[in-house]
Amino acid sequence: MDFKLRCIACGAEYLPQEIRYNCDCGGLLDVEHDLDSLREQVSRELFDNRLGDLALPYASGVWRYRELILPLDERAIVSRPEGNTNLYRPSTALRRGPWSFGTCPGPFVLGPKDQGRQVQGPGQDSGHCSLGLSNWLGVDDLYLKHEGENPTGSFKDRGMTVGVTQAKLLGCRAVACASTGNTSASLAAYAALAGLSAIVFVPQGQIAFGKLSQALAYGAKTLQVRGDFDTAMRLVRQTCDELGIYLLNSVNPFRLEGQKSIVFEALQQLGWEVPDWIVLPAGNLGNTSAFGKALYELKELGLIGRMPRLAAVQAQGANPFYRSFLGGFQQRESVEARTIATAIRIGDPVSYPRAVRALRWTDGLVAEVTDQEIMDAKARVDAAGIGCEPASAAAVAGAKKLVEASVIGRKEKVLVILTGHLLKDPQATVGYHLEKLAGLTPAYANCPVAIEPTLEAVQEALEGRL
Ligand SMILES: *Cc1c(COP(=O)(O)O)cnc(C)c1O
Ligand SMILES: [Zn+2]
Repeated sequence: MDFKLRCIACGAEYLPQEIRYNCDCGGLLDVEHDLDSLREQVSRELFDNRLGDLALPYASGVWRYRELILPLDERAIVSRPEGNTNLYRPSTALRRGPWSFGTCPGPFVLGPKDQGRQVQGPGQDSGHCSLGLSNWLGVDDLYLKHEGENPTGSFKDRGMTVGVTQAKLLGCRAVACASTGNTSASLAAYAALAGLSAIVFVPQGQIAFGKLSQALAYGAKTLQVRGDFDTAMRLVRQTCDELGIYLLNSVNPFRLEGQKSIVFEALQQLGWEVPDWIVLPAGNLGNTSAFGKALYELKELGLIGRMPRLAAVQAQGANPFYRSFLGGFQQRESVEARTIATAIRIGDPVSYPRAVRALRWTDGLVAEVTDQEIMDAKARVDAAGIGCEPASAAAVAGAKKLVEASVIGRKEKVLVILTGHLLKDPQATVGYHLEKLAGLTPAYANCPVAIEPTLEAVQEALEGRL
């Protein structure tokens, strides 16, 4: 094999055949590729020629880049296939927002820019309301890559195809993870595909319904831990060590190798033209780490000429990485996490050192956004017909905030990663539109209207709306 595991703290080397997640020194491990020999093997043309291949492994948007993921015998690969997610160029066109149909009792505020401009009750519209998503966000050259279009509805599938493949190669019979939901959904599905037992640890009462239903439906043994994600994470680590189960949290370096393909695929879709910014939500920091490593490797291999800047966005109530960033990463912070965006409700992110490295490589930064900003941004993404779960909208809200702060320029090319599907968290979405989320005042609620079953009632409800 032409790759090994290397500790990012002390540099110690380990063989990939060994089951281990950390160095003896406690440091995190990287899959280290032989970049010198890869330089001879890979090119943009190699990957472009595989586009449109209908057979595995290249039909997968992960394994299309297999030299840069894991150079395995293709018969070993466990794939749905995953990836091949759309890159949207949201319209700048003006359109009428659905919230102009709202009949929820006013007054409600339209958006951060409209503070003080109150709209009374139903029937009124505002120019600002009808802005296209990219105008609203403030950049013309905006791209959204929708990772919610993966087989189980989140980017986690890109890591799981590699992690579960590795579990099989190592001869493991059971796999486990702690999860805020999407990792468990993905693990359950890929374990079923591979014929492995799956055990998932979820924080009781803190997981969105779409995700919980997937873990149960795909047949994972689901343990609802009384405690938060960070507690479940400690418990699954102990369990895997004691019971010889393969751990598939993002501490596992093989998962991050798969997640690198989000960047590879986005760049390929952009004709290998590097954006100025890549903006993503940040929870356990696996994806931030994977993006940094992907970009570092592409640059080293000469596949891109310059680095985009990474912007990792956290929820204000779950912002340990943001706090560390403010302190120049002198100190690793942790918090007790609270946010409506359950996928990033993490107080002590496992991949912290790898993510710090990713930001150094890319001259990156960290932003934070409130739950109000997250849910209003989600409403705009949803109403554009694209849709995403709350954590994904954090990236959109963060991009908007960075534009308003003139950190991101209005003329720059901005790629925002939507990490999960709209249907993952129906409670958050419906709660928003019914104005039933505690502490939030939805700016773009699209309230349903109850009517009598008569044509007159329909006409009255649609008055001035057609
Ligand atoms: C896992 C997840 C995140 C957070 O990614 P990390 O790698 O933990 O930082 C964000 N959004 C969604 C939808 C996720 O499933
Ligand atoms: Zn070490």
